[in-house]
Amino acid sequence: MDAELRARLDQIQEGGLHRELRTVDSPQGTRICLQGREYVNFSSNDYLGLANHPRVREGAMEAVARYGAGAGASRLVCGSQRPHQELDFALADFKQTEAAVSFVSGYAAASGAICALTGREDILILDKLVHACVVDAARLSGAIIRVFRHNDLDSLQRLLQWADQHRSTRAKSQVMVATESVFSMDGDVAPLAGIVELKEKYGAWLMLDEAHATGVMGHNRRGLAEESGLGSRIEVQMGTLGKALGAAGGYIAGSRTLVDYLVNKARSLIFSTAPVPAAAGAALAALALIKGAEGERRCKALWELIRSFSTGSSPARSAILPVLVGDELRAMEAAQRLREKGFYIPAIRFPTVARGKARLRVTLTADHLLQDVAALRTALQESALSPGPANPVTSSHA
Ligand SMILES: *Cc1c(COP(=O)(O)O)cnc(C)c1O
Repeated sequence: MDAELRARLDQIQEGGLHRELRTVDSPQGTRICLQGREYVNFSSNDYLGLANHPRVREGAMEAVARYGAGAGASRLVCGSQRPHQELDFALADFKQTEAAVSFVSGYAAASGAICALTGREDILILDKLVHACVVDAARLSGAIIRVFRHNDLDSLQRLLQWADQHRSTRAKSQVMVATESVFSMDGDVAPLAGIVELKEKYGAWLMLDEAHATGVMGHNRRGLAEESGLGSRIEVQMGTLGKALGAAGGYIAGSRTLVDYLVNKARSLIFSTAPVPAAAGAALAALALIKGAEGERRCKALWELIRSFSTGSSPARSAILPVLVGDELRAMEAAQRLREKGFYIPAIRFPTVARGKARLRVTLTADHLLQDVAALRTALQESALSPGPANPVTSSHA
């Protein structure tokens, strides 16, 4: 087996697509330590700087002290310990939905929800650039999958029309659209109002993945649904606890009936050991921070940094600021050069993004300093790289 796998790995390497795990010897923060060297970290999704926040750490530690290290079983068996239950309530309150249910990860939330809600008879319509967890879940669900051009309402409408006709021949076929508020590798934002209008016109459901918007967008930092005032019209709101919340886990928020149904049908919830109490304790503490004055202050600081980085043509809409390189090997080299200068930024390549669309994915967090961002801009300019949208509105997505 190893000989075969070695050959496959060699091929991956030749294409500049090799990946490896690097040991980080520090907590997450704007400075991280690898192999004895400190780097300014522009790679994490810890947008509000909560992953190592004293109160979030305390939340995790208190949960360990009271509820132990492990959950013992699935949430349905005996693992739904009080921190998990409290977290579900807190998430529903935060998202202003009737109910919410948390999972061991965002990946598990997507898989549990999509496979519970759709099956062979149904049609899933996905944005071209949705996260891998939604794509994998869609495949696993067995539903008919259609993909619309990234953020393209005309393309979505054509597929909804098609789906409407297709299902007129099948009594019980549902149609669900799935998209992301902030796209994870491009940092652009879905045209949510248009999508909501269309899905309602054609009687489809909508699932919105708020992974990169939760904690960052909206007056109360609840996400794009809040910012657009559309929360009550989105059937399935999904998110992760691992990004702005600085903890780990995922959730689905929506109606009481949706959540009751998922508790009965979501296989990633039913057949997987509950998250450790520490994860729920950390997420609860993070939610309390995000809702309050400190969350507001951190979110403001983040947006100030975002504006200082993207003083170009089109203002950035999120904390994800891709620097498009194109060629995979060149992207690796660029990331290496920046590491030599003390900046830690990942080179994102196929299959995370399309071939030939490799990029440096710069992410900012509330704790970065304006000087950090200025220094990064200079370093990028020295490498003849400039931040900019990977999907300019004028480009064709063919
Ligand atoms: C990270 C991410 C997920 C998965 O969440 P995890 O909690 O990390 O499993 C889902 N959707 C998007 C858009 C993401 O970026």
